[in-house]
Parts: sequence; C-alpha cells; structure tokens
Amino acid sequence: MIKLHDKYFKPFISAKEIDDVIQRLVIEIAEDVGDETPVFVGILNGSFMVVSDFVKKYPKPCEVTFIKLASYEGVKSTEDIQRLIGLTQDLTGRTVIILEDIIDSGNTLAEVHRIFENEKVKSLKIATLFYKPEAYKKDYKLHYVGIEIPNKFIVGFGLDYDGLGRNLPEIYQIKETQHMTNLVLFGPPGAGKGTQADFLKEKYHLVHISTGDVFRYNIKNETALGMLAKSYMDKGELVPDQVTIDMLNAEVEKNTDANGFIFDGFPRTNAQAEALEKLMDSKDSQINAMIALEVDDEILVERLLSRGKTSGRADDADESIIRNRIAEYYDKTAILKDFYSSQNKYFGVDGVGSIDEITVRLSAVIDNL
Ligand code: AMP
Repeated sequence: MIKLHDKYFKPFISAKEIDDVIQRLVIEIAEDVGDETPVFVGILNGSFMVVSDFVKKYPKPCEVTFIKLASYEGVKSTEDIQRLIGLTQDLTGRTVIILEDIIDSGNTLAEVHRIFENEKVKSLKIATLFYKPEAYKKDYKLHYVGIEIPNKFIVGFGLDYDGLGRNLPEIYQIKETQHMTNLVLFGPPGAGKGTQADFLKEKYHLVHISTGDVFRYNIKNETALGMLAKSYMDKGELVPDQVTIDMLNAEVEKNTDANGFIFDGFPRTNAQAEALEKLMDSKDSQINAMIALEVDDEILVERLLSRGKTSGRADDADESIIRNRIAEYYDKTAILKDFYSSQNKYFGVDGVGSIDEITVRLSAVIDNL
C-alpha cells in the first residue's frame, strides 16, 4: 500500500503485466501499419511512460511527437480540457496513431479529435493502454485497447494524483476504504477489555464491537439470535462460529464510515480469525494489532465474582462457570496468539494495575503501530 497526499492506494497492475500489454499493442499496430512510417502522438503528461516503452519496442521506423492537454483535477476527470501545446508539425498525408495512457470519460479524446479536424491526415487511430468502459461517454472508436479496468481512480506509470505517482513503474488503485485502525482486544474474561475499550474508542475515534454485548442485547430483546446464543452462553460455551461470524459481519456493515474498529471478544477461534481477515480484505483494510491483556487466573476469578454481584450476568455468578470460561479461552482462543504472532501483530500488555495505568500501556502500543 502507498500514500499520496491524503489518499491510500493499493497495488493493482504489475510492471510485468503492463510490459506484456504494451508488447501486444506494438505487435497489433505494427502489423496494421505495414510499411508506412507512422507518427505516434502522445498526450502529455500521462502518456510519457507508455509512449517511451511503446516506441522502444516498435520494430520499424516511426516518428514521435506530443501534444499537451490538461484535464484532471484531483481524482476527477473534468469537462474543461485545456490545450497547452497543440500540433507542432504538419501531418498532412501521414498515418497517425494517438497513444493514450488512459481513456475514461473520453473528454480528452474529444479534444484530440477537434485538434485533428482540419488536419488532412491519411488515417487517425486511437490506442490506449487503459480503458474504463463504465466511464466512457463518447462514440469515438478506440482502435487498440490494452487493458479494460473498472471505473476506479488509478495512479502510476505516468498517471498522477495531484502531481504525485507518475514515476511509479506499476499501477495502484485507490483504496475503497481509506485508512482504518482495526484492533483486536484480547484477553480472558475479566481482563478488563470492556473497560479499556470504552477509553480507547473515545481516544482513537473507533467503533467498539463486543460480540458478548451484542449477544446479550439480543437475549434481552428475545430475538431469534438471542435465544440461540443463550443456550451456549449460559454454560460458558462458545456460540457456533457461523452464527457469530454472520452477526459480526452485520455489525461491521452497520458502520461503513468508521475510522476503524475495536473487536472485543472476537475472534475467538481460527475460523473466526480467518473470517475477520476476509471481511477486512473486502474493506481494503486489515487488522493492525491484536492487543492482549494478560492477567492471572486467580485475579480473574476474583474480579468476575465481584462483578457478578452487580452485573446480573448469570455467567459471572458461579465460580465453576467462570473457570469454564477461562478454560475455554486458553483452550480455544490461545491459538489466536499464534495466528497474529506469525504476522507480527501480537502485543501482550500487563492487565494488572489501575485502569489509567493500563490505558497508558495500551495507548503506547497503538501509537506505535
Ligand atoms: P464475553 O462478554 O466476551 O465474555 O462473552 C460472553 C459469552 O458470549 C461467551 O462466553 C460466549 O458464549 C459468547 N460469545 C461472545 N463472543 C463470542 C465469539 N466470538 N464466539 C463465540 N461465542 C462468543
């Protein structure tokens, strides 16, 4: 991933793929042109790279010239095309091939056709490396098309975002979701995840999703999901993966504008971790860190029993259920430590101390990401 000005871009088309496509265009065009000496006309600025690579591969004599038009503003194509440098040589009777880096709305192409209206060229053909069919609003024929791409903003290989990115040898596509910070807050029951999540979501403007809280909300409202979850939760067992994953996906979808998420109580199994990777991928994003609050079992039991006196949670009232939940955590969820450690995303934080002290320890990890 790269950042240009305020926006993030992800790799989209490799340098090798671009090279192969240019080679294919060269072969097609050289065959059609035959023994004529064509004039290739690049449209500046964007086309300088494609023109350069193209003519280096062109197997026969040719001429190269440029016209310079200005059309882009930020990430949007505008109607208002300015002609900065027009044709500087007489092309009467010549075989002309326009070499474009990209054709999207077709506004630039309209201006190119206006430029050639009164030139008595022998033929005028259009070749473009990239073409966005969904964006194209004109009828001009495109004679040679390299790669059709979706209507999303791209940079690299001559194409820029407000001046930056032209030098990149490959193509990057704008990210669907701009930068998110996504944290998995991890730790056994009673480690203080909920308390800390409340502070962290304020401090970092994140959306906090506690799967336990969502289940409890559903139980309180007697929804079908609640009824299903209750039978497992009352025993301190995990709710089946698919039920939990579907619910989590729905919670994330409710917050499409979020700066990021704190996942609390999720993932708890490998299947859930993999589902979360997929979900983050679909948002062009990722989990940045799993932060685990580490607390001794005996302290956990003590904390949960005392919380049980006021929380009204059935699974906090009974020491054997509490021990079962802690055992479930180590049994099933400790493997997640390996999952995130292997990606260098696991951070253990001492969860014993005052609430403030622990917030400071967690913030230190997040600020360093
Ligand atoms: P918690 O509030 O995180 O301690 O969760 C309370 C209970 O909700 C757990 O003991 C499980 O029964 C259920 N639960 C919460 N999150 C999950 C999850 N990710 N997968 C399966 N069950 C969960």
